[in-house]
Formats: sequence, structure tokens, C-alpha cells
Amino acid sequence: MTAGRVAPSLLLCRSCRQFVWPEEKVCSHCQSDLAKAERDYLSALDMARAAAERLEAALNADHLPQPDRQTGARAAMGQRASGSFS
Ligand SMILES: [Zn+2]
Repeated sequence: MTAGRVAPSLLLCRSCRQFVWPEEKVCSHCQSDLAKAERDYLSALDMARAAAERLEAALNADHLPQPDRQTGARAAMGQRASGSFS
């Protein structure tokens, strides 16, 4: 098992992507404000998620009736065939 290889209590600095201790307020690697970096990260994530949802909604709403070429061709051939018989 991989338990113990990475302490589960470690957090990821959103600024430099290094692991930091949860009690740290300032990243020991890049000295950025961890809470602010987390907020910025989450708001960016929210924006990305909202954009993805809007895109998905737009795609789902855009069910344009696809012209059925096969049926259309068959209907045209049928018409032509019946026309040639008469
Ligand atoms: Zn950092």
C-alpha cells in the first residue's frame, strides 16, 4: 500500500505546487499567502467550471435536426424508380 508515503495532512501550495503543512500561513517555498492562493485557485476553478457548464448547456440545447441524408436519398430513389415504371 502507499499509505504513509505522503502524509495526508499536507496541503498543496496553489502558487508553487509544493506541499506545505496545513498550519503554515505562508508557503515555505514561495512565501505566498496560502489562504489567498487557495481563494484565487478556487475562484479560477469556479469560473472554469461555470464556463464548462455553460458550454455543456449550449451543446445540449443545440440539438439541431440533422438532415437524414439516407432517408432523403432513398425517398428520392423511390420516387425516381416509381416514375420510371409508369
Ligand atoms: Zn508556494
